[in-house]
This record gives sequence, structure tokens and C-alpha cells, in this order.
Amino acid sequence: MNRISHSFTHENKSGSLYLVATPIGNLSDISRRACQVLQDVDFIAAEDTRVTVKLLAHLDIKNELVSYHKHNMKSSGKVILSRILNGESCALATDAGTPGISDPGEDLVRLCICSDVPVVAIPGPCAAVAALSVSGFCADRFTFEGFLPADKKKRGARLCELKNDNRTLVFYEAPHKLLRTLRDMQDTLGDRNISISREITKIYEETLRFSLSKAISHFEATAPRGEFVLVVEGAASDKAAIAAASIGSLDAAKAMAVSLIDNGLSVRDAVKKAALETGCSKNELYKAVQLQAAQPLDV
Ligand code: SAM
Repeated sequence: MNRISHSFTHENKSGSLYLVATPIGNLSDISRRACQVLQDVDFIAAEDTRVTVKLLAHLDIKNELVSYHKHNMKSSGKVILSRILNGESCALATDAGTPGISDPGEDLVRLCICSDVPVVAIPGPCAAVAALSVSGFCADRFTFEGFLPADKKKRGARLCELKNDNRTLVFYEAPHKLLRTLRDMQDTLGDRNISISREITKIYEETLRFSLSKAISHFEATAPRGEFVLVVEGAASDKAAIAAASIGSLDAAKAMAVSLIDNGLSVRDAVKKAALETGCSKNELYKAVQLQAAQPLDV
């Protein structure tokens, strides 16, 4: 790639931190603006200087690199901040993707914000967003969970928290922990659908869409390799759950009414809505909801 000759001086504001998104595999995914900023800033803070050196060589960009990673973030962060406060501009580049998303960037961002240093996003690749966009699941609302805790108990507790979440769930996972995570997901979330994106933008890129049980069988037969993003379908919404249950079932209607009450609807409105949607008798549903409550309900 040719060196970009014109300087974007209006982008290179002294005393600013630029969060530069870099490719997650395919080097052509670097944006022109990212190249310009990497070239124009006074120095680049890199999670792994060896990785960033290769990217800069590919882009034919020469600039000073300082190391900033999770083991030196306290000391290196202070030095970077003091240079920025002295008027230098800095680009932060992590190993891949958008700095701050499940990597050390967020600490430096906070440090800069606390000192009123402008923090500028230079957006680009992000594995979570790429995997979500091809999953086919609802992307209007989703929750990004990053890496699940390594500790089994904590992992189970986190999955329990997510069990009733209607939003699509997005996780990062290392290949050697993939099977363990899929099994825990199936145990806690049930046999949901999952979209597994592997090696996005790289030679062996693939997205597999199946149920959690089929995913487990697949990876028992084929050892997981490469980098993975797991996109799990959210818990069935109340309405979908009702549709899945038999229409007119009093139990399903009661579950829907209780969920609506938990979400803030009055008992009267919840019963009316659930009865309408399920075709149950309103009076029977009132009685069922009242019976379930510890105290008699004021309807
Ligand atoms: N900041 C990065 C981003 O914006 O995507 C994420 C950094 S996190 C330390 C690394 C994790 O991202 C990997 O373990 C993997 O789960 C996911 N990841 C990164 N590149 C990927 C790729 N090309 N394909 C699939 N997953 C990827």
C-alpha cells in the first residue's frame, strides 16, 4: 500500500488520544482515515509493538511506538498521559479490532477523560459487530458479554444472569475453552440457536448456525481452531413463548400476565393483555393470577 502523502492536520489535534481500529484479519480492512492518523500522530501506543510494527510496515508508515498492555498499563498509561498533556497526539492501536473492546484500551480512555483530554474514535473492524451482523439474529437489541469468567462457578452465575435476557447475546471465546463454554451454555440457557463465527475476514473464515447441542457435537468431532465469536439467540420473548405454547393454555397466559406485571403493568392491564393475546378467559386468568400471588391482588 502506498504511503498516504497528504497530512490530515485537522484530524491530528495536539493533546488528543485517537482510538484507531485495526484489521481483525484482512489488512485491507484498515480505513484511509486510520492510516492517516497512524502516520500523523506524534506517537502510537500499541498493545503488542511486534503486531503493530508489522501493520505499519505493510502500510509503509514510520512512527514511534510505545508499549501499552495489561501488564504495564498503570506505568505506561501515566507516561502516555503526561506526553499528551504536554501537547503530543497519540494513537492507540490494540492487536486487532477496536481498542477498548475486551482489550486494555478502556483504562487509557478513562485516564484521558479524567484529565479532560479529547478522545477521538477512528472506527473500523470489531469482531463482535461483524459476527452479530452475519448471525441472522435480532441485532436491534443485543448484549455484548466479551469473555465469560474462567472460573466455573462465576461462569455459571454469569450465564444464569443472562438466562431470561431477550436480547441476542454476544461472547468472545478462546478455541481451547469453546467446548466447555458451549456445554455450560446448553446447561443453563437450554438448547438455543447459536451462530458461531470463526476467523472472520481470514482465509478459513466460516459462520456456522445451529442449535447448541449440534454445535457441541460438531466441535467434539472437529477440534476448534482459530478465533471465535459466539452469538446466541436471546430468550424467547413472552409473546413468542406464548405462541410456542399451545394457544389458549391457561398456564402460558398466566406466565405472560405475571411477566407483564413484573415489567410494570397493572394487574388489570396485564390480565387483559394476556387474555387477549392467548384467547383465554379474562375471568379465569384473574383467578389464576390471584391464586399464584401470595397476597390477594387488587384488581
Ligand atoms: N478489540 C477486539 C475487537 O474489536 O474485536 C477484540 C479483542 S479480544 C482481546 C480478542 C477476541 O476477539 C478473540 O479471542 C476472539 O474471540 C475475537 N476475535 C478477534 N478477531 C477475530 C476474528 N478474526 N474472528 C473471530 N473472532 C475474533
